[in-house]
Amino acid sequence: MPDIVTRFAPSPTGHLHIGGARTAVFCWLLARHFGGRFYLRIEDTDPLRSKQEYTDAILASMRWLGLDWDGPPVFQSRRADLYDGLADMLLASGHAYWCGCTPEEVEAMREIARQNGAKPRYSGKCRERRLGPGQGRCLRLKIPLTGKIVFDDMVKGRIVVDAGELDDMVIRRADGMPTYNLAVVADDNDMGVTHVIRGDDHVSNTPRQILIYQALGLPVPRFGHVPMILGHDRRKLSKRHGARSVIEYQRDGLLPQALVSYLARLGWSRGNQELFTPEELVRYFDGGNLNPAAAAFDPAKLEWTNARFMRSMPPDDLARHVAPFARDAGFVDTPEERLAELCVLFRERATDLRALAQCFRPLLVPAAELAVHEKDAARHLTDEGKNHLRALAAVFRSCDPFDAETVNAALDAYVADNSLTFKQVAPPLRTALMGFMGGSHLNDTMAFLGREETLARLRRATEFADEKKSQS
Ligand code: GLU
Repeated sequence: MPDIVTRFAPSPTGHLHIGGARTAVFCWLLARHFGGRFYLRIEDTDPLRSKQEYTDAILASMRWLGLDWDGPPVFQSRRADLYDGLADMLLASGHAYWCGCTPEEVEAMREIARQNGAKPRYSGKCRERRLGPGQGRCLRLKIPLTGKIVFDDMVKGRIVVDAGELDDMVIRRADGMPTYNLAVVADDNDMGVTHVIRGDDHVSNTPRQILIYQALGLPVPRFGHVPMILGHDRRKLSKRHGARSVIEYQRDGLLPQALVSYLARLGWSRGNQELFTPEELVRYFDGGNLNPAAAAFDPAKLEWTNARFMRSMPPDDLARHVAPFARDAGFVDTPEERLAELCVLFRERATDLRALAQCFRPLLVPAAELAVHEKDAARHLTDEGKNHLRALAAVFRSCDPFDAETVNAALDAYVADNSLTFKQVAPPLRTALMGFMGGSHLNDTMAFLGREETLARLRRATEFADEKKSQS
């Protein structure tokens, strides 16, 4: 098979959103699966709406998602010569002509078509006028009057369009700017693109682009038009449906591989498998099994996907991902080995990295700064609770080594030797260690804190309860 070449071609008029990101994932996967190339092209021909900050943000989002591209990004704004060359070739070969109709005249033609119950279209008035270049003149493609344009879409199957349904489209505007269809064909051809995967809002452009390829005798790539992603109510996806830009998901603490897995499943499947590592996706995604029906975005499933990834990845990896969030939460110096231990303690209790980092707080602040939950303290740091804490302090002081197994055995022995139940001892201990009735296993928590910090917390809890008592 010849090399597969794909590209992702965002317009830098906004941030990378779910729909664009999913297209990028598919293009990237197809190239990586077949060991081909994946290019990035910034379609910045609209100077009013294109912004450098969006280009930067899109590149950053792609990098964060792990969608690495080959070679430097291509910028359409720097390729005017290429587009001019192609337009000139079309003109020279008689496939394009100068049109002197004003926008008002064209609008009037469209209106007449509308009134006749036809599609609004340009009438072809200048087609045979053999005009030359001139002020206010654009270039139009001479669309064949009869015949069919046929292509086998990777997603939608065979698509057949009557050439007669299309009007002679503008390929270079009166101000000299190429139109989208001309620039895309020029670029895709120049970049050797073999497979064009994009949103199906472009499907009506494809027959026009094919006509340009054919007019120039260029090889036509394969096309795949993926349906739009909808909201749960089957309407156009928006913020209201819980959809965010990729940058926002990054800020909110999603794992990039979870987002990639979720996006790939929006429109592609392999049996019943729901979660895919990037490596699995590259192995399995061959451009088949793309669903022609529109998928609905489900924030709850994305959250579930993220939680599953957080739970199954190696703690060291998770620690690397959570580190920026821990820093944001104020834990600047915590080494990654410590974060990895915390990840093991808390990863079942959070569905995103930001929330996970917040779970670390009680274990990372010094005993004196531990926030104590008043209600839990009143309930569990009673006289009886305090007695247990004092006795346990002595028990734990002599644990050697001070690890999860040893403190666990010591705690069990304390309960058994004093004919207690775990329920009498655990709540005051938990409140003392965490400041509230939450957290992970007690023995793991103490092992993480170490002997000195554990004892400091038991002492602090009894003092806290004494103070409360003397105030009341
Ligand atoms: N710049 C176009 C868009 O953002 C891409 C079209 C294409 O992939 O051909 O919709």
